[in-house]
Amino acid sequence: MSDRIFNFGAGPGVLPESVLKEAQRDLWNIAGSGIGICEHSHRGKVFDKVINEAEQVCRDLAGIPGNYKVLFLQGGASLQFAMAPMNLLPKGGTADYLVTGVWSEKAVKEAKLFGTVHEAATGKGSKFTRIPAAADIKYSPSPAYVHFTSNNTIYGTQWRSEPAPPSGVPLLCDASSDIYSRPIDLSKYGLIYAGAQKNLGPSGVVLAVIRDDLVERAPKDLPVMLQYRTAVAERSLYNTPPTFGIYMMGLVFKWIRDTGGLAAMAERNEAKAKLLYDALDESKHFTVPAEAGSRSLMNVCFRGPGEEMENRFIAEATKRGFEGLKGHRSAGGMRASIYNAMPRAGVEALVAFIREFDKKEPR
Ligand code: PMP
Repeated sequence: MSDRIFNFGAGPGVLPESVLKEAQRDLWNIAGSGIGICEHSHRGKVFDKVINEAEQVCRDLAGIPGNYKVLFLQGGASLQFAMAPMNLLPKGGTADYLVTGVWSEKAVKEAKLFGTVHEAATGKGSKFTRIPAAADIKYSPSPAYVHFTSNNTIYGTQWRSEPAPPSGVPLLCDASSDIYSRPIDLSKYGLIYAGAQKNLGPSGVVLAVIRDDLVERAPKDLPVMLQYRTAVAERSLYNTPPTFGIYMMGLVFKWIRDTGGLAAMAERNEAKAKLLYDALDESKHFTVPAEAGSRSLMNVCFRGPGEEMENRFIAEATKRGFEGLKGHRSAGGMRASIYNAMPRAGVEALVAFIREFDKKEPR
């Protein structure tokens, strides 16, 4: 019998059980070295293999082209909100942002510290319940880059495919909550980054993939740690990196590979999300604020008829072993995060509970 429950938290989120078991073993003694993963030097042979394999499998999964660098950074996705404009928004330049939620707004706020921001589209008017259509996007005349958030963790919306920036303009993406949940063509991106703690591993490490030609755009008077070129030149080992986080990411990449790769992830994620959205759509009491074409496959946000019933739902769910269902404090309601590692059985159990609760509830 497992003593684990179903964790629908938005992040740090659920990790694959096989990965956790392997990590348990390697915490004690990795690769027969007699030393645990957290105790190895970041410059030693054991960790060298760990980071090389993590990068290689990361590359293989998405077929990352050779002119892209894979980086393991620190400071969370939040530091990328600042690093991206620091490095890529030249003095006097304008960067275009597609604003689809709180995280995009935070990215805008940081970018404004370094240059002019043009909001090429914003979903604020529709309470971030939908992803802008191509016709809603108005780019500035010559942006330094276009930035978007591929999945909005708080509002439960997700881009079906990348926005198309004006020709020659680099596309930047915060993919914190849906990276590697589906196939991705990285050649469309100038820079993509993601905090690990949802689909890739524990918190404390950020995956960033950057196109070669952008690396040298940064002014050289930035703090060394805040220049992408430092991480590129030192292969993410300028200072002591989050070794355990990188190790875990490597295990998660291998788990994705060994369970079918990104296409299989997408297939499973679509099926899981459909189970949940169908149950909510068929229910008498629950509603999904996100518009049909914009619904996230990662964070399923839903509401009840009132706060009293929502609180009761969350309390009963918790008693039944479903954790992390409370919506973000800024959005309210409920949110079921069903990242790659959430097993279908977890979603099926939650769906059964939703149906039972809905039936019991008086009209
Ligand atoms: N972007 C998105 C889409 C997120 O969901 C989050 C965290 N929930 C962040 C950025 C911030 O990430 P971090 O906490 O790693 O800075």
